[in-house]
Amino acid sequence: MMISRHVVRTISYLSVFAAACSGSGPGADPDAADLVLTDALVITMNANRDLADAVALRGNRIVAVGTETDLEPWIGPATRLVPLDGKTVIPGLNETHIHVRDLGFEQDTAVNLTPARNVADIRSQLSARLEELKRTERLNRWTYPLSGETGPWLFGLGWAQDRLEDSRMADRHDLDQVSRDVPISLDRIYRGIAVNTRIFELLGYNFDDPDTWPDWFAEDPADFGPGEIIMRDQQGLPNGIFLGERAPRLVNVVIPDKSLEQKVESLLSGMNYLASLGITSVVEAGSRMGEVTRVYQAAYDLRGGRLPLRAVVYDGWYRSNDPYGLGDPGAIRERVAALGFSNLGDDYFRVRGAKSSMDGGMGSRSAAVSVPYLPVAEDPLGAENRGALREPSFERNLEQYQVLAEFGWELHTHAIGDRAINRVVDVYKELLHRLRERRPDDEQRWSIIHLYQPDEPDNSVVEEMADYGIIAAINPANLYFEGASFLRNVGAKRMARHTPYRTLRDAGVRMACGSDYPNNPPDPWVGIYHMVTRQMQNDDRIYGQDETVSLQEALACFTIDGAFLTYDDDVRGSIEPGKYADLVILEGELMSASEDELLGMADNILLTLVGGRAVYRRDDFSWQ
Ligand SMILES: [Zn+2]
Repeated sequence: MMISRHVVRTISYLSVFAAACSGSGPGADPDAADLVLTDALVITMNANRDLADAVALRGNRIVAVGTETDLEPWIGPATRLVPLDGKTVIPGLNETHIHVRDLGFEQDTAVNLTPARNVADIRSQLSARLEELKRTERLNRWTYPLSGETGPWLFGLGWAQDRLEDSRMADRHDLDQVSRDVPISLDRIYRGIAVNTRIFELLGYNFDDPDTWPDWFAEDPADFGPGEIIMRDQQGLPNGIFLGERAPRLVNVVIPDKSLEQKVESLLSGMNYLASLGITSVVEAGSRMGEVTRVYQAAYDLRGGRLPLRAVVYDGWYRSNDPYGLGDPGAIRERVAALGFSNLGDDYFRVRGAKSSMDGGMGSRSAAVSVPYLPVAEDPLGAENRGALREPSFERNLEQYQVLAEFGWELHTHAIGDRAINRVVDVYKELLHRLRERRPDDEQRWSIIHLYQPDEPDNSVVEEMADYGIIAAINPANLYFEGASFLRNVGAKRMARHTPYRTLRDAGVRMACGSDYPNNPPDPWVGIYHMVTRQMQNDDRIYGQDETVSLQEALACFTIDGAFLTYDDDVRGSIEPGKYADLVILEGELMSASEDELLGMADNILLTLVGGRAVYRRDDFSWQ
């Protein structure tokens, strides 16, 4: 319903655009533009990838794009002219894989540890934030769940020991050097937590008094199930690092919960931060319905239907004992039937698409690959490890996805290793055949999320993805930040084919880009930089020089193709008449930026508009 409305609108404006271009004026439409940006480099990202000099806005829409002469008919007595003096205008960036929920919280009171290279970095990042929180009196605002007392807390997120130089995470002895009094809890990127000694005390455990020790201090972590690890120090006591799904629960019962108000506040301030990077829309990649979705809904209501950025939320499909699996097809049917909708919402907040997962990670050697990982000392599976599929049975997988597809949910599946990618493509293919037989005019924009190793030595699924219109929902910044740990696990040759941008592009696979924050910092310019250079953070060598793409091609992944993923390419993703005025003004001339300038481009964002409304303005930029 919503889509057909937009199509009609866009077509009517496009004919006006043609008239404006031929110099004959807007004709039947007497309204002049509110605002015309002139003397700019406008990178339109339209189908021809045209550049223009000026853009005219009225209300929340773009009404004309072209040369300054083209736009003269749109300038009336009340039109505000803003000469940009050669600055660049690009479409707002569409970030298509992010978990915004903690971003504002991190900006305000927590620490993101993804930039840390070693334990010393972690300690200094934590100490700096602790000082700042003390100075600004934002430390003592937490209610401890077990005692109900209020007090201080220091939160961190985004660590993974395999990203750190010595493959060692800060343990409670390291963290005690940051603070012995303030509880410190650091969430791992994936299933894990690190805490200081103060947290054990809040649980009633005193390391000096064996009478207070719980049974699990001595227990074999394997008793908690496969993959569960309680790390120990030289005395054989827990060192504060817990890995796995269940082991972290031994200590996280004492961690304060954020209230709905705090979560809403975090979402909104996170969105404001993203606007400062040039982002105008996000895909929240997987919410357990009723949790993250509820936070978005509350923020949307609070803001009277206008969030700072546009958001599409995927629903996450989980079963209780495996938060990333789909589970029983019958249970899925019951749940989707009870929900009774897909694609609900408007252009500021919509719930659309279902996210699930087919394998694990490449740093953690759990992604399903056909050629085993390179052996490393700490992997007991050694040279046999090829990771695992979350759903071993193809037939059952097909049934699970069939239920979701029947109810109209688009499919978006995390798949990293080639075995997982092949499986997802095989399931998608079969379902697409069935759907297209019944409803030949429908279009499915399904995606594979991450897509790290589609090209293994013995096979490639890229052509098939192109044939079936399967979208690659990729995270270039992840390669920049985490590439070193992948390299250790798969070697240089396979790294050169890791998310092969050029191969995907040339085959005709559409790429939509996201940061996957909090797994990586959310700066989209790092992703653009990686696509253009394939340069990693801590390695001078380039893996896959022949897999780079041009700046325009990289921009397409963050603009028009990102909008395509969520069926929004008719209303945003490029600078064209009829589309929303979601625009970014950048200092300087983007097309001639050096590689280093590209990496730091976030500092050059001057103004971000969503629907014609400024959601970010750099202090020194005046445009009114
Ligand atoms: Zn994610």
